[in-house]
Amino acid sequence: MKIAVCPGSFDPVTYGHLDIITRGAHVFDKVIVAVLHNRNKQPLFSVEERVGLLEEVTKHIDNVEIDSFNGLLVDYVAKSQANVIIRGLRAVSDFEYEMQAASINRKLKSEVETFFMMTNNQYSYLSSSIVKEVAKYNAPVADLVPDIVEKALQEKYRQK
Ligand code: ADP
Repeated sequence: MKIAVCPGSFDPVTYGHLDIITRGAHVFDKVIVAVLHNRNKQPLFSVEERVGLLEEVTKHIDNVEIDSFNGLLVDYVAKSQANVIIRGLRAVSDFEYEMQAASINRKLKSEVETFFMMTNNQYSYLSSSIVKEVAKYNAPVADLVPDIVEKALQEKYRQK
């Protein structure tokens, strides 16, 4: 069974993420979307909220599971009995960081392969940060994120 881990911050999940997850689920037997507990970034949504939104927007895809993890990605991948890391590539600017991450991960665990998927053109400039920037000023984000995520964003910024 080919199991892939799709790691990230998902703060919050966008149509760009969903596209990569959906396409990954066509290639692998199982895709585990893993939300990173990242202590360096100040997230808008808690890990539990991000997991909840991901569960909701992927519930129609049978072979996708949502989880969260701490620590080294390659350790999490091995623990999950996966052998592939899926990463999405948008602009050229993603490339340098992703190449570094893939080579360090290969050094740490050579049996884990990184699998890159090119973004769908329509999402090449879409990121969680852009979505938050737009939502913060109450502008519509309906083309960028699923409804439930748009509502969660409105609720967050209303509270703030
Ligand atoms: P990270 O902080 O690890 O980059 P993100 O939540 O920003 O976490 O992204 C998780 C994964 O989804 C990454 O592989 C990223 O490249 C990919 N991704 C994010 N947005 C898009 C998009 N619009 N199109 C394709 N892939 C994307």
